Amino acid sequence: MKKTSKELMTRASILLSEIKSLAQSPFTIMEVCGTHTVAIAKNALRELLPSTVRLVSGPGCPVCVTASGDIDRYLYLAAQKNVLTATFGDMIRVPGTEKNLQELRAEGADIRVVYSTQDALELARQNLDKEVVFLGIGFETTVPTVAVSLEIAKREGIKNYSVLSMHKVVPPVLRLLAEDKELVVDAFLDPGHVCSIIGIEPIKFMAQDYSKPGVVTGFEALDILEGIVMLLRQRAEGRSDIEIQYHRVAKPEGNPQAKMFIERVFEPVDASWRGIGLIRQSGLGIREEYRLWDAVQKFSLPVFDSRETPGCRCGDVLRGIIYPTQCPLFGKHCTPMKPVGPCMVSTEGSCAAYHRYAQRS
Ligand code: SF4
Repeated sequence: MKKTSKELMTRASILLSEIKSLAQSPFTIMEVCGTHTVAIAKNALRELLPSTVRLVSGPGCPVCVTASGDIDRYLYLAAQKNVLTATFGDMIRVPGTEKNLQELRAEGADIRVVYSTQDALELARQNLDKEVVFLGIGFETTVPTVAVSLEIAKREGIKNYSVLSMHKVVPPVLRLLAEDKELVVDAFLDPGHVCSIIGIEPIKFMAQDYSKPGVVTGFEALDILEGIVMLLRQRAEGRSDIEIQYHRVAKPEGNPQAKMFIERVFEPVDASWRGIGLIRQSGLGIREEYRLWDAVQKFSLPVFDSRETPGCRCGDVLRGIIYPTQCPLFGKHCTPMKPVGPCMVSTEGSCAAYHRYAQRS
């Protein structure tokens, strides 16, 4: 049954009191997922927390962590004659070295915003004279639907459809964060949607090997407050576990069917993360059996060097080393209207969230 706003406020104040009583000494939490970052900013949760509890944002915005070389690569592909690029809307204004998709479209490239891989497949069915390429960017949450689209393309023999896979997986970057000497984080709010697919087994090493407790958390303000309470309770009890707050969606075993589709179509590959560098086995490449639908193979795509945008500190923001407001360009030379880096473009980007909701650092 839906709760009234009075009941929600009462629950929030109970959780905040518990946080205050448990947080007698400093405790730094990283929210891994970009959707958490936005929810925290939108609900001004930082302002409500005691000063002993710090929240820092992590690398969980898939657009933001896409290396500049990968962006230049898809821009190169989108500019090819006869290619129709299908993409989610948040990629349109992400700057490459020279331009973005929006500018390419103004120059005549065929670039369409789609809301699902089914839309992209439909474009392929309706445009048989074109090569339709779907830009595959995202974490484990979005990968199953891309895998299904490749299955369908293979089954139906849709030969003018392919995917440029720039997908990434979360556990390897968590390990990197746990080993990062510059980063001082006590615990993690783990991504609710990713863990609803992979379950908690692949991230248990964080608690067991690195003593970094985690709580798989939902995206409402109350979910996040409850996740923080659960992490503080672990500290008070001297425990380090991976727990689930987001029970209504995430199960310990994840989603076996979604995992099966990912496994069938994709395989782990090394991947470059913006501002972080190469992380072994942190990306997903398309398996040989689906090579006809792999844009890298189909178009013999060259590799582009990754360069950081001068002055942009997205990498440090994504590693939780600085707050967005500590970037010298924030709000001056870099705004959502005129973004310098992807963290200011994407709806899940930390810089965009801080800018939109004027956050406390
Ligand atoms: Fe990069 Fe802009 Fe964020 Fe600075 S404010 S880190 S330039 S996206």
